[in-house]
Amino acid sequence: MAKTFERGMDIPHYKEQTEHLPVQELPQPTELIIPLKQHIGAPNRRLVSVGERVKAGQKIGDSDAAISAPVHTGLSGTVREIGSRITMTGQLEDCVVIDVDPEQEPASYTADDVSQLSTEEIRRRIREAGIVGMGGAGFPTHVKVNPPTTIDYLILNGCECEPFLTCDHRLMLEEAEEMIAGARILSKVLGGAKVIFGIEENKMDAIEVIKKKLAKEPGMEVVPLKVKYPQGAEKQLIYAATGRVVPLGKLPAEVNVVVQNVATVKAVWDAVKYRRPLTERIVTLTGPGAVQPGNYRVVIGTPLSHLLNCTGGIRSDVVRIVMGGPMTGFAQTTLDAPLVKGCGGVLALTSDLVRSSPEYLACVRCGKCVDHCPMGLYPNYIGMYGELGRYNLAKEWGALDCFECGICAYVCPSHRPIVDFVRHVKRA
Ligand code: SF4
Ligand code: SF4
Repeated sequence: MAKTFERGMDIPHYKEQTEHLPVQELPQPTELIIPLKQHIGAPNRRLVSVGERVKAGQKIGDSDAAISAPVHTGLSGTVREIGSRITMTGQLEDCVVIDVDPEQEPASYTADDVSQLSTEEIRRRIREAGIVGMGGAGFPTHVKVNPPTTIDYLILNGCECEPFLTCDHRLMLEEAEEMIAGARILSKVLGGAKVIFGIEENKMDAIEVIKKKLAKEPGMEVVPLKVKYPQGAEKQLIYAATGRVVPLGKLPAEVNVVVQNVATVKAVWDAVKYRRPLTERIVTLTGPGAVQPGNYRVVIGTPLSHLLNCTGGIRSDVVRIVMGGPMTGFAQTTLDAPLVKGCGGVLALTSDLVRSSPEYLACVRCGKCVDHCPMGLYPNYIGMYGELGRYNLAKEWGALDCFECGICAYVCPSHRPIVDFVRHVKRA
């Protein structure tokens, strides 16, 4: 029987629209809007000025802080503006806006023999390339692969448990060799950690492809996982794949495990083998309102409007555009936000998939949120104290252990926006 974790729930997948569609290149945009901070950690300072010419692959923002990751431009052009722009979370962030050259001279990268590189050099290249968790977390990868403890397992997260998204699925099918090569590099950096590919069973083709490629690969295996949300959350994945429990408030290294998203590991290969910075990613455009749903390779900083313009726009009955997945993503109020390192999807949703009224009712103490919370929290209390502004009480009930999977809000019959309350508590 496929392995899994406690609680959580089976929710509709909605992946059939794009799961069989190969990755296509999106035409280059005329401008890039590149947020200077696309990671968890200290903000970057800009390294370019208005009017400056920039080359494809050039670093445009960086920081001296230990927990940070630089940003680069994927296309050449001229810096038009540096200032606050709206991003996918709805927050204003400092962005470098670049007028893209219509004719591009592609950046050239030479291949190195990775077997000759020291672990310090590998970590340095990962940092220099600006690699962060591409599953949405945005934690700098060079920090994650320099843990304070020995590591027994490196788990590659190929669950993609959010409905609709298929970008990681396609990557596992189309770029499996590079991903496995990236896993080899990270295993070496982590002292020879055993590698586990955790993949949900609704991606049997990816499971088969990777199993075949690992047949002669010692120390690597595929662990098929039950299809359940949020199977791809770090602590839930670790439990399902290894049986180890990460204590509340602690990180995976506490139980000698590191988890990396599969797209991140592919980016590690590019960074270490070719010194290629993270300037592009696969994004799934989907939902019943998308005219040309598909999996598109986009340059980081591409405006959402460009993605939609190049794919026939959206149907007239779309009532909501979401960046990210439907459970953890963000509804957009404009089409101006850029696609960033941690954004794997754009959803064009029609009214049948969207709760129409923003109003919510009082908690009726049904307990459904408690039954399904994968962290074993009491979302009802966290939500109530968050709503009342009693932040310390919300914290005592575990608000900081909530990773915003959205199940509590999904099951709540009173439509209480518990994740919004949690985010409010965390900001406070
Ligand atoms: S409280 Fe947090 S972790 Fe628990 S179900 Fe709600 S969003 Fe998910
Ligand atoms: S699911 Fe909603 S109504 Fe039920 S206990 Fe949780 S917050 Fe209250």
